[in-house]
Amino acid sequence: MSCVKASESTQSDSGADGRDFNAGSVMQPRAPNPTPKELRNGGRVKANAVDPTGIYKPNNNLLAPHMQSPDYVQLSTAAAITLGIMQGKMYRCDCTRCLNLLLTYPEGCRANCAYCGLARHREAERDYADRNFIRVDWPAVPIDDIVDIVARDVDNTPFHRMCISMITHPKSDRDTVSVLKKWTDRIDPSALPVSILSNPTTMTRDDVVTLKDLGADIFTVALDAATPEIFDRTRGKGVQSPHKWSKYWEILHDAREVFGAQKFGAHIIVGMGETEYDVLQLVQQLVDLGGHSHMFCFFPEQGSLMDHLPATPRDQWRRVQLARYLIDYRDVRVEHMTFDGEGRVADYGLASSELSDVIDAGIAFRTSGCPGKFQEDISACDRPYGDSPPSNIASFPFQPKKKDLKKIRRQLDIPVVVR
Ligand code: SF4
Repeated sequence: MSCVKASESTQSDSGADGRDFNAGSVMQPRAPNPTPKELRNGGRVKANAVDPTGIYKPNNNLLAPHMQSPDYVQLSTAAAITLGIMQGKMYRCDCTRCLNLLLTYPEGCRANCAYCGLARHREAERDYADRNFIRVDWPAVPIDDIVDIVARDVDNTPFHRMCISMITHPKSDRDTVSVLKKWTDRIDPSALPVSILSNPTTMTRDDVVTLKDLGADIFTVALDAATPEIFDRTRGKGVQSPHKWSKYWEILHDAREVFGAQKFGAHIIVGMGETEYDVLQLVQQLVDLGGHSHMFCFFPEQGSLMDHLPATPRDQWRRVQLARYLIDYRDVRVEHMTFDGEGRVADYGLASSELSDVIDAGIAFRTSGCPGKFQEDISACDRPYGDSPPSNIASFPFQPKKKDLKKIRRQLDIPVVVR
C-alpha cells in the first residue's frame, strides 16, 4: 500500500492567480453537504456492529468494524511500517522517529475543520477508520499490541517519541488518560518521551495536570489557523464546528504553566489565507511565552472542505519556514525582519553570510515538531510526506542533501552559492 494518497496534480510552485502566496480572498472553504440522519454519528458502523479482529487496514470498500479507544487506536502509515505491522517503503526514509497515535471511535471526530480529512461532514461518504488524514491512511490497531512490540526492546526502538492525538469526542479526555497509562505501565517515559496533541474544546486545566502527572513530556495545541478570523472560518462557526480561538488559548496558557518552558507548543498551518507577517508574529508570541511552533504547509486534503484550493506555493512556505527557524532557534525577532506591502518577508534580519550558513545547514527546512534524541532543533515527529508529495517536498522528513538545498535556494530566490 502506498503511503501517499493525495493527487500530485494539485502541487504547484504558484498559488491562486499565479501569485507566490495564498491570499486570504481565495482560501475559502466550500460548504459541507448535509449528512442523512441514519448515517450520522457512525450510524452505518454501529448498525452493522462488526466485531474487530486484530489490525484493520483502511479499505473504503469494506465496512469498518466497531473499534474504539482506549482498546483501539489508529496510527500513521509511517508508524505502522516502522513498527513492522504494515509492509511498505517510504521515499528516502528508512523509518519515522515518532509513533503517532490517534484516538478512534465509530462516531469519528465531532468537529468539522475545513482542511481536515477526519472532519465530521465526511461521515456519509467514508467510515471513520477509512478517512485519510494528513495525506495518509491510518490503520487501526489494539493499543496492547503496539505497547507489546515497543516494550519488547525499548533501548533499540527506532522511535524517539510517542504522541497521542486526541480528536473531538466526548470520551477523548478520559481515553487519552487510559492510553497514556497503558503505555507508561510498561514503558518508561524517560526512555521514550510522550507528547500530547490536545483537543482543548473538551478539556479543563485539571485534564492538563493529570496528563503531566502521568508522565507526558510535551503538550501541544493545534491552533492550526494563524489568526482568529481564519480559525473561525475554517474550524469554528464558519463550518459548523465547535472550536473557539479563546478556548484554545486558555488551554495553551494552562499548558505553559503546568508543563513549563520549552515543554509546550502550537501547531500552525501556513497558507490558509494569513500573511507571512501574521504567522511570524504568532511564532514570536509563542517564543516569548517560552514555547515553540510546529508548522505544516497547507495541502488540499482529498475529501476535505478545502480540497479545491491550491497548496501553499513553495516560495511562501520556504520564507516562513526559514524565518520561523530563526525566531525559534537563532534569537532573531520578528521586529528585526522586514516585510513588503503584502506581508511577505523581505529581509530576515540576519547578515547574508549567517543566513547562508543557516540555509546550508538544512535543518530549517526539516519537519518541525517535538524534539527527538538527535538535537533540540530536529523533530522526532518527521511526518513523511504529510504536507506534500515526495516530488515537491515541503517539510523534509530527512536531512536535505546538496541537490535539495539548491532547489530550496531557488524557491527562496536566494542565489545558489557554490562551495
Ligand atoms: S478537531 Fe482535529 S481531527 Fe477533528 S476535524 Fe478538527 S483538525 Fe480534524
